[in-house]
Amino acid sequence: MNFDAPQEHDLLRHSVARFFERELPEERIREYDRARAIPHEIWSHFAEQGWLGLAVGEEFGGSNADAMTGSVFCEELARRFPSLAMDWVLLSMTARLFQEHGTPAQQAEYLPRLVRGDFIMAFGMTEPSGGTDILGLTTRAELADGQWTVNGQKLFTTFAGQANAILVLCRTDPVEGGKRARGLSLILTPRQQSGVEVRGLDLMGMRAGGTSEVFFDGAAAPEDSLVGERGRGWYALLSSLDEERILSAAIYVGITAAALDIALQYAKDREAFGRPIGAFQAVQHPLADVATELAQIRLLTEKAAWLLSQGRDCANEAAMAKLAASETAIRCTDRCMRVLGGYGLVEASPLERLFRDARLGPFSPISNEMVRSFLGERMGLPRSY
Ligand SMILES: Cc1cc2nc3c(=O)[nH]c(=O)nc-3n(C[C@H](O)[C@H](O)[C@H](O)COP(=O)(O)OP(=O)(O)OC[C@H]3O[C@@H](n4cnc5c(N)ncnc54)[C@H](O)[C@@H]3O)c2cc1C
Repeated sequence: MNFDAPQEHDLLRHSVARFFERELPEERIREYDRARAIPHEIWSHFAEQGWLGLAVGEEFGGSNADAMTGSVFCEELARRFPSLAMDWVLLSMTARLFQEHGTPAQQAEYLPRLVRGDFIMAFGMTEPSGGTDILGLTTRAELADGQWTVNGQKLFTTFAGQANAILVLCRTDPVEGGKRARGLSLILTPRQQSGVEVRGLDLMGMRAGGTSEVFFDGAAAPEDSLVGERGRGWYALLSSLDEERILSAAIYVGITAAALDIALQYAKDREAFGRPIGAFQAVQHPLADVATELAQIRLLTEKAAWLLSQGRDCANEAAMAKLAASETAIRCTDRCMRVLGGYGLVEASPLERLFRDARLGPFSPISNEMVRSFLGERMGLPRSY
């Protein structure tokens, strides 16, 4: 076993830190959080750095980086700006889907544009009827005269407002043999058309991510916008689940790490009763607990990412990492906020934002209840859902 970080990971961490110092200082992040939007120019900067192509093959202009690199990058983004990390994960996952399931023509058309930041793709799976029982979705697409027509509604579609197109999971064919997973397809639906209406949602956390509801009313997509095999869209998604869970875990590792840094500094600087508050055991102990839990979730996330990078089964580790990291971030942002006293509630404190952003973790991209049910099943217990 080798616990030394490769030099490339250290370099990547430094590059991200320098980028934020230069382009995204805390006041600007706070501004974007209040405006509930990340301007497109940020993605152009990401493209210049080669960060939009981490998950994309070199033949399309990407760097074909492994899951360990993706997870380090995601952690560093989330330390500073979790909404940006969430959006980046979505961009990476849609690129991954094209990389693995797109036709050669689709790959040649979209992957280089995704890498250059010229094409933003949102992903619409969740519907108002629920994100957990996803196979019950009701959005439909029908093919006639060389064109798909999409009708239905999606909820919580991140990026929908600025996306060029939305990759929509919808029913194109009837349920087959009682299996609801069959008959679903992925259709890349252009956003700027009269059949697509996007309404922004005012969220409490991950506010700058641009999450919206989307209405499809006779939306048109060319016949060749089908991504992957018709009726097998659900199965195409399964191939990226582990990576999505690992990158999500990395977001909560980043949030926990940032919360600890802030609380630790505050404990050193703030004085009460003539001493820094960090001199009191009641302040030191929770910070020691946060540091310990941070080390645990980082190790678990790194292990899952390492297994995936080796092409090995990591379904349990990816699920555990997502579960542990998201629950830990909730607990630890709370503990750290207590150290800051009243200042923890002040909007100018990044901890206030991290506390809100951490709230997404327990239910997205998959709820922790479902993760536990999945792990229970993997341990040989009866399927509970
Ligand atoms: C900021 C944000 C960004 C998002 N971005 C996207 C996106 O880009 N694309 C997209 O498609 N979706 C997106 N989502 C949706 C997200 O993936 C869903 O919120 C998530 O899947 C949970 O679905 P839900 O909110 O409908 O909760 P529900 O499915 O209604 O679940 C509610 C509760 O019931 C529990 N529950 C349900 N069924 C069971 C069961 N069988 N056993 C035990 N417990 C159960 C759940 O665990 C949860 O606690 C986003 C959400 C947010 C908030």
